Amino acid sequence: SQLLDVRLTTLQRAMRRAGMEDQMSYDYVLTADYAVLLAEEFGRNPIVDDELAFNLYPPPPHPDPSSLPIRPPVVTIMGHVDHGKTTLLDTLRSTSVAKGEAGGITQHIGAFSVPVPGTKDTITFLDTPGHAAFSAMRARGARVTDIVVLVVAADDGIMPQTREVIGLIQKEKGNIPVVVAINKVDKPGVDVDAVQKALLAADVQLEEFGGDIPSVQVSGLTGKGLPTLVETLSAMAEMQELRAEGDGPVHGYVLESQMQKGLGAVATVLVLRGCLKPGSHILAGLSQSKIRVMSDSTGKVVKAAYPGMAVTVSGWKTLPNAGDEVVQGSESDVKKALANRVRQAEIEASLKDVEAINKARREERERREEEEAAAEAEEAAREQRPVETGPKELKLVVKADVSGSAEAVVGAIHGIGNEVATSRVISSSVGDVSESDVMMAKAAGGTVVAFSVKVPKPIEAIAIQNQVPICSSGIIYRLVDDITARVVDLLPKIY
Ligand code: GDP
Repeated sequence: SQLLDVRLTTLQRAMRRAGMEDQMSYDYVLTADYAVLLAEEFGRNPIVDDELAFNLYPPPPHPDPSSLPIRPPVVTIMGHVDHGKTTLLDTLRSTSVAKGEAGGITQHIGAFSVPVPGTKDTITFLDTPGHAAFSAMRARGARVTDIVVLVVAADDGIMPQTREVIGLIQKEKGNIPVVVAINKVDKPGVDVDAVQKALLAADVQLEEFGGDIPSVQVSGLTGKGLPTLVETLSAMAEMQELRAEGDGPVHGYVLESQMQKGLGAVATVLVLRGCLKPGSHILAGLSQSKIRVMSDSTGKVVKAAYPGMAVTVSGWKTLPNAGDEVVQGSESDVKKALANRVRQAEIEASLKDVEAINKARREERERREEEEAAAEAEEAAREQRPVETGPKELKLVVKADVSGSAEAVVGAIHGIGNEVATSRVISSSVGDVSESDVMMAKAAGGTVVAFSVKVPKPIEAIAIQNQVPICSSGIIYRLVDDITARVVDLLPKIY
């Protein structure tokens, strides 16, 4: 509606008329045919540019996934702060470097892989707890984690972030397998049994109690129980039968990115499908790379990265963002898709500008209307002022949350006073106390009565500056008491 410069309701009416009810939800992306139809409806002359619609996507799902090779699982460690996630990851990471290997210095690249003892299998751990990329990817509906390790410190039990993770997992309705790592069991006097019972109470169905969630007792500090954790993860992965294309175009995600001396922009890519090789052209968000060098978390140069592996990639023209989806194409396809994405981003940005301009206009209009209302009220109050002959009046500007309660407040206030001093409602309306309410009360020498509505801080300040009292409460009788006291104050003093 912004592009066509018509009201949203007008657009909706036109869509309904054209039989486009199904397309009317706010996040529906119109096909070119529908868009053309609509544009013509509003007298525009649309041009369809297929070239401009070109983008790169991950390859379609494989017709027979069971024929694909097995890939390592991708594991995320989550849990409450200080429950030992970093320590656990550090200890696991150190086992990823073969002992005595020359140059075996581990680096933080966002993920590392750990061998499963007695097999050729590995497990990939995302190595920043509560990974920023994880949230970004989740927000896009991407699934990069196959298994979650919920770390619970045995000496601390279930804490707020533990509950958060449990909530997250329960929202996935069993789609993300979980293993609970009860950590810090090396500490003397810890009560593992109590932690397990607390987990059960939080609806985490542990195997110990007949459920299907395994738990492992570990110490990230001493390394105790970590082989069991790795074995458990490996067994869980086997059950999931994680398979993916080991060749063909790549689909993956950027885990993190940074500028590096000598290499320029470098990003860690977690490969989910396909095979990443130097020389390939890839696209992540608005960044492209002709891959120069790839290396793993031990700093070793890698010639090919397969599903489940995370490697740092250099050769980016610009720095991609953590969470960006990675796809592959020919040099010209990547170039074309990138150009279109940039244009798309520009269009989105300009739509945001339109929104901002509209918002500023709306606010300006509202401000003007308020000023005018206040000026009118002042005028009206000035005309009414010479009532000095009758009883003294406490003039009230009533604001309430809903019209029903405004009536109730007016009803309760009505009749407070006698023939010498009385209260009179000069205005009653719904909504938070605004500057114009204060100005109206000021012009009438009155008081603002706020029932169950907010008095924004700046408005309160204006009221204080203008010496306009505000009686604010969510309880009617308090307001009545307050106003009665103020009316009594108007009575002539008797000595
Ligand atoms: P995170 O916030 O979850 O990443 O927790 P950290 O790994 O930073 O650990 C928090 C504190 O707990 C640190 O002082 C660690 O030394 C300590 N810690 C972590 N794991 C263990 C463990 O297995 N046993 C003991 N005794 N202390 C641990």
